Amino acid sequence: MYVTKPRLFFSYALQNRFAVPSFNVCNLETARSVIEAAEAENAPVMLQSYFGDLYYGGFEVLPQLLRNLAEQAGVPVLVHQDHPDSNQMIFRTLRRGYYSVMYDGAHLPIEENIRGAAYVTEIAHAMGAAVEAELGLFGGGEGDHGRVQNASPEESRRMVEESGIDTLGAAVGSIHGQSSRLDLILLEEIASVTPAPLVLHGGSGIHLDDLREAIPMNVVKVNIGADLVRAWMSGLKEGALLESGHEPPHHLMMNHASKKVSEMARAKLSVMGASNHAEPLLEKLENEREDLPFISASSLPVKACSRR
Ligand SMILES: [Zn+2]
Repeated sequence: MYVTKPRLFFSYALQNRFAVPSFNVCNLETARSVIEAAEAENAPVMLQSYFGDLYYGGFEVLPQLLRNLAEQAGVPVLVHQDHPDSNQMIFRTLRRGYYSVMYDGAHLPIEENIRGAAYVTEIAHAMGAAVEAELGLFGGGEGDHGRVQNASPEESRRMVEESGIDTLGAAVGSIHGQSSRLDLILLEEIASVTPAPLVLHGGSGIHLDDLREAIPMNVVKVNIGADLVRAWMSGLKEGALLESGHEPPHHLMMNHASKKVSEMARAKLSVMGASNHAEPLLEKLENEREDLPFISASSLPVKACSRR
């Protein structure tokens, strides 16, 4: 199912205390492998395209490809636009049917970040889409030029209240493409002052103990880019060396790499608790007539951080 009710999607994850991995996919094979993994886990999943993927896959090709695959999937698939290079890119993806988009203003002064997020949110909401904004910097070279800086609880509260965004990417120690440990006490503090569900970038490298502890603190989406690229690249290299019988060698190579991506994606879905949630969520998405106007985590108790 191609998800067109993003707030219902996120609120279901929030209520049921699991997170959905959002995979950076750029072509048929990686997107299909992720969906096959979600079907095998009976889990909802997210596919996302950052600006480099949109240029690589093509504005007139990649969004349609992801939509086609999602429409045929037996599980809910929410397609998200991740790290745009401009507001224009956000609007272009909205026009191509993305129901979840990111406003990437974390490098700006807080007032400008809030103003920019509010502007995009007004337009995205009119089109039925949800908006993710970012506070703090996840570093690692994507969008924010490598600098790492944690989000502040007060700015998190202000961003959500003043801009009207739906989900908040808050930097609490994870880094794009690198191993990391989270500041769980800071995450708990942000979760307790912010009504919006939270997003973690740099999800590939987060220590698994930290990831498990973080998810009950209102984390509903975890971005996975680096691990997908690693699985795909190592799969292609191994696949190129395989002895081909009747199968054409290029099919053999790409099927091998696809299997590696699927295995990686299944492990992420499982560790984030998304397995076996597809069917109840499908039912909810089919039966509810309207998407929620706003998702609020404030009615849920934040699970206490065990390190305090
Ligand atoms: Zn990111």
